[in-house]
Amino acid sequence: MANLFKSFFVFCVTFYVVCAKHEVYDGHSLYEIVVKNEEQSNFVNGLENDLPIDVFVYANTGRNGQILVPKDQKANFETLLASKDVEYSIKVENIREQLEIEDKILAQMAARTSNRSSVVGLDFDNIHRFQVVDDYLVQLANAYPNLVTVASAGKSFEGRDMKYLKISTTNFQDTRKPVVFLMSLLHAREWVTLPATLFAIEKLVLDVTEADLVNDIDWIIMPIANPDGYEWTHTNFRFWRKNRRNGLMVGNFCMGVDLNRNFDIFWGTASSNSVCSDTFHGHGPFSEPETANIRDVLNEHSGRIEIFMDLHSFGSMILYGYANGVLPPNALTINLVGVNMAQAIDRVKWPNKPNYIVGNVFHVLYAASGGSSDYAQAIGIPLSYTYELPAFSGAGQTLNGFLVDPAFIRQAGFETWEGIKAGARFVRDSLSMRKNMLR
Ligand code: ZN
Repeated sequence: MANLFKSFFVFCVTFYVVCAKHEVYDGHSLYEIVVKNEEQSNFVNGLENDLPIDVFVYANTGRNGQILVPKDQKANFETLLASKDVEYSIKVENIREQLEIEDKILAQMAARTSNRSSVVGLDFDNIHRFQVVDDYLVQLANAYPNLVTVASAGKSFEGRDMKYLKISTTNFQDTRKPVVFLMSLLHAREWVTLPATLFAIEKLVLDVTEADLVNDIDWIIMPIANPDGYEWTHTNFRFWRKNRRNGLMVGNFCMGVDLNRNFDIFWGTASSNSVCSDTFHGHGPFSEPETANIRDVLNEHSGRIEIFMDLHSFGSMILYGYANGVLPPNALTINLVGVNMAQAIDRVKWPNKPNYIVGNVFHVLYAASGGSSDYAQAIGIPLSYTYELPAFSGAGQTLNGFLVDPAFIRQAGFETWEGIKAGARFVRDSLSMRKNMLR
């Protein structure tokens, strides 16, 4: 994003009294873009390098783009689109109104929930803040010492603990079991991914209805992989994506590194070297404490992790590497398991949602480098995926994209769990088959 936009933003942060919540987004419009050919899509997707716009969905010939454009850039943006004959429409005139609706309905639902007499665990009517989740993980470990261990992967840039749970009936000692690694919120604004990891925790600890998943498998679950960015989306800047590293460049107030471009895998080859960009890759691979912390947990257990799932939003997709378009040697298996997971979700999804798309990230979406799931794949984890959970939008719904309607929170957790289970059971069965063959 360009400096002009950031300076207004910094002004609002510094003198927040005069800037009501979400004022930074006042008059921002969400555009839907239809491209007819590759030339148009390259043109549209390249505009983020020149204008302070926020690309929610990259346009290609099979998928309409979604781009958030500040009020003072709209005329310029529209002129540029017209110059290349690109079709567009305004999906949301003023995104600030949607942000206020999201606040309101989440607050209403939270008030209703707090009136309930007994809530076991965390409810699925709200998107819980960092501290609530952090406390919850500790409480679970205290309450279920034979099943749950809480650990910290290390501190975030601003010093928050990156806690994760290890869930195991055998304290991770039985090496015949596969390890499943699950995480969410590496991208701060992708709120709908948090209920998915929390739902998994609920079904493995508090409300166990399928015991094989607990008995046969060891789990590592990190619900908030980008704690600082995540808190920032609650307090100041709902569409923040990166971490909160500052001091990146003297005299430049742009902040943050895209953590999903900062892993040491093809680093810097398909990401931005501009500190203001939403896909800024940082000053070097693993320059950020958050990615280094995740790397350490992955590496510690890499010999036993059979499947890695990093939950993002939005788009209803299950994607695999490599993001430069080169397929891993076991790509057919990766694709097959991806399809199984997608079908498991599709069976229980809401009818107004699209079916999941499964494929290589480069071929389905775009080239990218430094991603978590590519790193996990490259260090030898056999199955590694990025989930893109669905956007909440449907008949009569006003909220779009990253915004979350409380009506969808439990469903997001429930349906994603169906996919996760399918993947987990596959690795359990295939590992036991491999071990039997070795006997
Ligand atoms: Zn993401």
